[in-house]
Amino acid sequence: DGLVIAVDGPGGSGKSTAAREIARRLGLRYLDTGAMYRAVTQLALESRIDIEDHNAVAELAERAVLTIGTSPDNPTIAVNGEPVDDLIRTRAVTNAVSAVAAVPAVRRRLVIRQQQIITEASPVGIVVEGRDIGSVVAPNAPVKVFLTASTEVRALRRSHQLGERGVDDVARTLAELDRRDALDSTRAADPLAVPDDAIVLDSTALSVQDVVDEVLRHCEQ
Ligand code: C5P
Repeated sequence: DGLVIAVDGPGGSGKSTAAREIARRLGLRYLDTGAMYRAVTQLALESRIDIEDHNAVAELAERAVLTIGTSPDNPTIAVNGEPVDDLIRTRAVTNAVSAVAAVPAVRRRLVIRQQQIITEASPVGIVVEGRDIGSVVAPNAPVKVFLTASTEVRALRRSHQLGERGVDDVARTLAELDRRDALDSTRAADPLAVPDDAIVLDSTALSVQDVVDEVLRHCEQ
């Protein structure tokens, strides 16, 4: 079977860019599990249900049909047939996603789907990025990477992605990132944690290329 590479870490750590590039270089598929939690969140906001109502959110996740494209050059996601690639990146979704991702029934459902996608990709292999890939989704992955970076650098990268310029924008993004980190690392179900056997890379002072090279070196071993 093909290689499974787990890439975990907090928001803005450079996971997505690095994970996609690793997949491209090795000819593997690519799965962004954060996009799946974001897609359910987008649906919840659009349906105007109370995202603190766990039963309602769980029911919605149960009914949501996610269609996922795993090309590292053009990853795509649709919910109930509607492409949501841009909608899931809005600030509203970003600020609500941690609450949705904390619902155990949502996690159970999405983890099963993620494991199916990994199995489907097994003839070629796949790079899977998220928060709990090395610990929960693919605990047997032979290569596990945990990417970190200082909160300031992560906020700057996020602001840059969002096309923000001002100091106030960066400060606001930093506060939102801090809040999301806190929620993601303290939730009861599968909190963000470093797997024992992960390669931990601090990307504060590393370029994407440095990170990719380091991971590829580990894959060759
Ligand atoms: O990676 P990204 O920032 O797009 O993830 C969005 C949110 O989805 C995270 O803040 C987290 O709450 C949730 N998530 C998760 N488990 C994953 C991937 C993402 O809980 N494997």
